[in-house]
Amino acid sequence: MSQIPLIFERSTPGRIGYSLPALDVPEVDVRENMPEEYIRVQAPELPEVSELDIIRHFTELSTHNHGVDSGFYPLGSCTMKYNPKINEQVARFPGFSSIHPYQPESSVQGALELMYDLQEHLAEITGMDEVTLQPAAGAHGEWTGLMMIRAFHEANGDFERTKVIVPDSAHGTNPASATVAGFETVTVRSGPDGLVDIEDLKTLVGSDTAALMLTNPNTLGLFEERILEMAEIVHKAGGKLYYDGANLNAVMSKVRPGDMGFDVVHLNLHKTFTGPHGGGGPGSGPVGVKEDFIPFLPKPILTKKKDQFVFDDDRPQSIGRVKPFYGNFGINVRAYTYIRSLGADGLKAVSEYAVLNANYMMRKLADYFDLPYDRHCMHEFVLSGKRQKKLGVRTLDIAKRLLDFGFHPPTIYFPLIVEEGMMLEPTETESKETLDAFIDVMIQIAKEAEENPEIVQEAPHTTIVKRLDETQAARKPVLRYRKEG
Ligand SMILES: *Cc1c(COP(=O)(O)O)cnc(C)c1O
Repeated sequence: MSQIPLIFERSTPGRIGYSLPALDVPEVDVRENMPEEYIRVQAPELPEVSELDIIRHFTELSTHNHGVDSGFYPLGSCTMKYNPKINEQVARFPGFSSIHPYQPESSVQGALELMYDLQEHLAEITGMDEVTLQPAAGAHGEWTGLMMIRAFHEANGDFERTKVIVPDSAHGTNPASATVAGFETVTVRSGPDGLVDIEDLKTLVGSDTAALMLTNPNTLGLFEERILEMAEIVHKAGGKLYYDGANLNAVMSKVRPGDMGFDVVHLNLHKTFTGPHGGGGPGSGPVGVKEDFIPFLPKPILTKKKDQFVFDDDRPQSIGRVKPFYGNFGINVRAYTYIRSLGADGLKAVSEYAVLNANYMMRKLADYFDLPYDRHCMHEFVLSGKRQKKLGVRTLDIAKRLLDFGFHPPTIYFPLIVEEGMMLEPTETESKETLDAFIDVMIQIAKEAEENPEIVQEAPHTTIVKRLDETQAARKPVLRYRKEG
């Protein structure tokens, strides 16, 4: 564990950081009518600093974090792309930011129109018939979608469909959501090509299949080419297809889940559609459905009656409300702004550059790291640090070494089926110069692993804190400064 840096010690006795106007009312002692136990016996130990000291302190602290606005962030599956500042401007319009969810519908027609329009755009982008904006994040969308699939089967008197099939490469939220929605998860194998093993799928599909849950492009960054065949296998057996659309960055205005045979899809507006994320949200995980599932959508449903937008609560088959009010509205405004500023052609260009950037980086690094699935990738790709591991350098070490160069590491040890995996997603918003700078550093680290492994094993060297206990940092974070001694 590293020491807390001494920059915290800025206090000088008697120094103050405020100046109040002279007292022009009678002075009172607030302790007079206060119960004894609430009266402080010792003065609190507060830092005594000037305004300038405190501004510098917090400004400096803010630079110790890494964000999309401070550096390259190729965290695979997370789509850490630039968050356009126009989104922030629009989200701050008083008509969006100062309204209250209990206001009458007639007084918030503009906000409702935006939501309605966003639903329509997302339905068009995904090839679905209707969309709900309620779910607050990707995993929440998965659960909502699976609850609808469950309601669908039960409405058909089909109570035996207890299993959800999930590939072994899937994002961890998939089996988790299936379990929380009351299903049993069955794992389908990936073949040596990184794609779902269709023969294995055939043996798993049956009258107990509720759904196949799939990410396409999958979490290896590969497009499931036999998706239509898979859809047919599952549909023939009476199952449904769920699309994990957290990362739509490779396929927008190219192919649509609805056209691939999917029945239900969720999107992560905080990934593909530039909502700022990291640090815990808020996110938005809208769910789109094909016609058969419309009765089961969470209520209330936003509809248009004549020229007015209204909420319809009269939905007897709905799975119910999944979030208070109407979803994370602010993040939906940002996504809407993004979609409207780019248009369909812009979204298509986003996908093309995302795929181009990923393939460029993959090819440049393929000589220096193992590439377990050597084929064109989509918006991301997965390397293996197997070669470096033989030299005593683990993927974790490589990730830590990247910090010394001001880069956020890729996603590591995921997907689980890749040994010493590194999952890189450069996104379309990075320049060739940034991609090249990162590639150069990765090549340098590969050389260091051969010639000077200690420098990688002991990294990071330049950051304010070194290697932290990541489990304890998440479970028992130290959020309060205490003066030592
Ligand atoms: C991020 C992600 C999720 C989960 O989304 P959250 O908003 O973090 O809940 C699900 N699936 C995939 C493929 C993802 O990348």
